[in-house]
Amino acid sequence: MDCLFCAINNKTIPAEIVYEDELVTVFKDIQPQAPLHMLTIPKKHISTINDIGEEDKDLLGHMIYTAKTIAAQQGYAEDGYRLAMNCNEQGGQTVYHIHLHMLAGRQMTWPPG
Ligand code: 5GP
Repeated sequence: MDCLFCAINNKTIPAEIVYEDELVTVFKDIQPQAPLHMLTIPKKHISTINDIGEEDKDLLGHMIYTAKTIAAQQGYAEDGYRLAMNCNEQGGQTVYHIHLHMLAGRQMTWPPG
């Protein structure tokens, strides 16, 4: 399967990986939209949020738990940060392997564009 984020998981494409375990990889976004912009991805290939199955519920919880732990380690727990996932074209998804954005270090606005 030709998937950019699977290639990052497999380390056939380089990325600035800040954390990984048997379930997830966390790395810096190549085009950061905030002073801290990281992506948490599952090792398992799941194309979109629509493809998340009952069996993936713990994995999704682990993704959020990992992102919040790293946000705290980086010193952003008190000031705050944003976690976001985009789904399909109108949701703004461009890479079809689910990923949790973690943006921190500036004031976020609402609604997002
Ligand atoms: P999406 O638009 O699908 O929600 O987010 C995809 C994200 O992946 C974007 O923020 C984009 O900058 C990031 N991205 C795309 N290609 C690469 C890459 O090759 N390396 C890294 N580290 N990030 C990437």
